[in-house]
Amino acid sequence: MSTPIAPPPDASLPWASGPYSIKRHGVSLTNCDSEPVQTPGCIQAHGALLVLRLSDLAILQVSENSVEFFGETPEALAGRKVESVVGAEGAARLREVIDREPIERNSLYALTLPARGAAIALDVCVHTVEGVAVVECEATGRGEEDGAVDYFRGVKAAVGRMQAANGLREFCGRVAEEVRALSGLDRVMIYRFHADLHGEVFAEAKREDLAPWLGLHYPEGDIPRPAREIFKRIWIRPLPNAAGPLVELVPLANPDTGRPLNMTHCALRGASVMYSEYLANMGVAASLTLPILREGELWGLIACHHYTPTHFPYRLRAACEFLAQVATLQLKSAEQSEHLVYRLQLDGVHQQLVAKAARDGDLMALTDRHPSLLDAMEAGGAALYHRDRWWCAGKTPEPAQLDALAEWLNTRPDFASATRPAFVTDSLARDYPAGAEFAAMASGVLAVPLSRARHDMIVWFRPETLQTVNWGGNPHEKPLVTGPHGPRLTPRRSFELFTESVQRRSLPWSTVEIDSALRLRMLVMELVVTRSQRLAELNVDLTRSNEELDAFAYVASHDLKEPLRGIHRYAHQILESAPALDDENRTRVEGLMRLTVRMDSLLDSLLHFSRVGRTTLELDKVDLNEVVEEALEMVGARRSDGTFTVGVPRPLPGLNCDRVRVREIFSNLLSNALKYSAPGPARIEVGYLAPGETGPRPNAPAESAGHTIFFVRDHGIGIEPRHHEQIFRMFKRLHGRDDYGGGVGAGLTIVQKLVQRHGGRVWVDSAPGAGSTFHFTLPRGETPTLP
Ligand code: ADP
Repeated sequence: MSTPIAPPPDASLPWASGPYSIKRHGVSLTNCDSEPVQTPGCIQAHGALLVLRLSDLAILQVSENSVEFFGETPEALAGRKVESVVGAEGAARLREVIDREPIERNSLYALTLPARGAAIALDVCVHTVEGVAVVECEATGRGEEDGAVDYFRGVKAAVGRMQAANGLREFCGRVAEEVRALSGLDRVMIYRFHADLHGEVFAEAKREDLAPWLGLHYPEGDIPRPAREIFKRIWIRPLPNAAGPLVELVPLANPDTGRPLNMTHCALRGASVMYSEYLANMGVAASLTLPILREGELWGLIACHHYTPTHFPYRLRAACEFLAQVATLQLKSAEQSEHLVYRLQLDGVHQQLVAKAARDGDLMALTDRHPSLLDAMEAGGAALYHRDRWWCAGKTPEPAQLDALAEWLNTRPDFASATRPAFVTDSLARDYPAGAEFAAMASGVLAVPLSRARHDMIVWFRPETLQTVNWGGNPHEKPLVTGPHGPRLTPRRSFELFTESVQRRSLPWSTVEIDSALRLRMLVMELVVTRSQRLAELNVDLTRSNEELDAFAYVASHDLKEPLRGIHRYAHQILESAPALDDENRTRVEGLMRLTVRMDSLLDSLLHFSRVGRTTLELDKVDLNEVVEEALEMVGARRSDGTFTVGVPRPLPGLNCDRVRVREIFSNLLSNALKYSAPGPARIEVGYLAPGETGPRPNAPAESAGHTIFFVRDHGIGIEPRHHEQIFRMFKRLHGRDDYGGGVGAGLTIVQKLVQRHGGRVWVDSAPGAGSTFHFTLPRGETPTLP
């Protein structure tokens, strides 16, 4: 049973005092949502209508054009039996259909009245509603030849083709094509309603010369609420001549009950002036509309337009109606297969992304190339928070705005959910007022956390709907129209109403997208876990081989020192005991002694190096500012010439580290900074960059993320980039043995070892003439034990 959808009559409405008639009252913009569209009191003038009492089939109401169709005035027909219009045989047939067929709210063809005199042949359809039988009479066909059209064959083939479609879009495209092929109408659109009730032309079949409307979006107000409600109850809405005349029922109210006729299910129902004027504004002369439902709700419409008045014979309507019903039945599976296609597409891209990240050994691969996180989602931008910074693709808010948003997201319970950790919105500013700043670019947000501890996350952004979709009824193209009943809901007006309603809103995220984001999250987390397991294994191997190497270096250097001392001693004795040695041999023996001295210092370095690897660290609370001072003293003591400045612009943080070894790191780096200085006084700077701080991190290895980065910067001779790695190798010097104060080339190797023992990395940023900055991290010392 249908429930009245119009609210109780409001005394201010023009039709409050008696039955409504479109012809008499019309509606305006202000009351169109209360218009009693189910009881319009009028029918379209191309047909005639009789209302019969069910018990005796006596005529209760007749359309005022009865003379034209039946040769008698409504007054003459009132109270007479239906035989007087359809003959005895016709009346018997009507009785049979009424008693036997399921025609409650469902109009069925009953008979054809042959042409008589001036009257044309009429198809007679009947249905029952609220205790009366409604008989609708319309011309049989479009032309003589129409009877020859085999609709059954056409519909059967059409259904076959619709079923073969792959996915929702293709399916809707086929539905549009088939309905157009069957009806011959100028334009057939599949109009789809979005969650916010605005509509989109989702598929279209049209006359070639017409401009395409495919992809255009229309505001919710273009189809008023009462009209939507009716579409949930009927299968078809024909309007063969939108601008054509309307004729009233005589009398307007049923004489038995005093109630107006409920015309919801009448094909001839007179259209609201709002709608016919709306069509006229678009230049459309005829329309045929069929609803597509999904789980009882209006999913969309098959909306057909024709640019000249036409005729929709019963058989054509029945065929189109059948196609619309098939569309409704098939919609769910078409939608499911569409979702599956989208899901597979998203998952495919996600897998490529994760494979790429696994190959590169880093998640940054998700945003920097193709495919990126953006290819995996219909979004305007994507941002990945990883290694203490944002990696963005497409259009995203500024890093500072992202930081604030991330901080807010981290406080949300849905983001921390154990089962579906995600934050999803199509209107960020509603929950997060600061989001209004970037609403145009990012009204929609879909965010998933990757790691709680580090606050890593992926966020996709979807722009405001107004920015993304292609609006039909653009206000700049269509002027406001004042119709005979006041201002009309033209495209322009409805667009304005609509603009307000979708401000700061994006198109909603689908379940497929949210699920896929959650699956990507799992993949990334697995990748991270696998990587850290692998790294842990490698670390164990590495530690073992490092220990073996250190032991070897120790034994070798220790044991070599003994024979070396012997060689030196003998050489010395030769020089002492053989004064007659000629000059040449004397030079040779002196050379031998110099070489043993050098070899001894090399062995010392090697021994020291092996000790650094073998002795355990003594971790303690250390004030790095003191350590740097001590290191400077050590270096300054060695330095005898010239002046220099060493700046420490801000106090260094406290650490829990091995004081002696960290001092050695600083003393080595400071001594190099002094040794390899350019002419003039050396300017050296010692500083750090805290984990959350913004600042350049040139050449920083991935592992440095999340840790304090210390640096020693000089303005000296610099190092060519091709040597940046080599200088950390044992005994690697870029200069002659005695140049730049001499050295064995072990200092940086030892620094590297000391840093590694603290779990850190050391690297250089330098170019010839541009000075050098040595950076390092000391993760093991970073327990926050000092203020
Ligand atoms: P050494 O200083 O004994 O040669 P190191 O291992 O400390 O050994 O340094 C290796 C090489 O790296 C040096 O020979 C030098 O060429 C280069 N180097 C190190 N520090 C600097 C610096 N601050 N500026 C320019 N070059 C440097």
